[in-house]
Amino acid sequence: MKTIGLIGGMSWESSIEYYRIINEVVRDQLGGVHSAKSLMYSVDFAEIELLQHQNRWEEATRMMVDAAQRVERGGADFVVICTNTMHKMAADMQKSMGIPLLHIADATADRVRSAGLRTVGLLGTKFTMEQDFYRGRLVEKHGLNVLVPDETEREVVHRVIYDELVVGKILPESREKFARIIAELAARGAEGIILGCTEIGLLVKPEDSPVPLFDTTQIHAEAAVEFALSE
Ligand code: GLU
Repeated sequence: MKTIGLIGGMSWESSIEYYRIINEVVRDQLGGVHSAKSLMYSVDFAEIELLQHQNRWEEATRMMVDAAQRVERGGADFVVICTNTMHKMAADMQKSMGIPLLHIADATADRVRSAGLRTVGLLGTKFTMEQDFYRGRLVEKHGLNVLVPDETEREVVHRVIYDELVVGKILPESREKFARIIAELAARGAEGIILGCTEIGLLVKPEDSPVPLFDTTQIHAEAAVEFALSE
């Protein structure tokens, strides 16, 4: 079994989900008291969130490269970044280390394609919904049609993530707002919805959507186990 290197803390509310899921999947697959070999470097999210919202991406990249190198030095065989947004610097992180990085958008797109879907709605931070590092990758590398909410609704989704979900607030009124935004994406033609922020699965459940949900936390954690257990 390979050792999974997790970069967490963005936020820790979702990092604990990664830890739970990878261990549950290993136990399901290997039985008995088996569990995942893993290590996690967990950041102080306040430092990251400040750099994101001040557009200080070069400093954020330096922090993420440092995190990746710490995980590699710690003995991981590959790296999993436990957030969609910080895949913005995935290429720089990959260049700075000698072990592979398992990209969350690739794992998710593979799942969407194997479900036979082509057009998906994407929910996440504004960075994820608007910038090319994520949406562009789904379109250009994986041939998906990606719909995002309009500007006002993107702001709603972004604010719920940063004001509520990353600090553990799960509010019914926000679940209703997300359900309405999802219904609109489905009405515009989305055949599935990518929960492209690792905390959204804590708020939104399959019953809140008329179309299948693709929870990036669940999918990425499962892909990590598949890779860890592969030859
Ligand atoms: N966990 C979130 C994501 O998947 C947002 C937190 C962050 O900005 O990293 O994008």
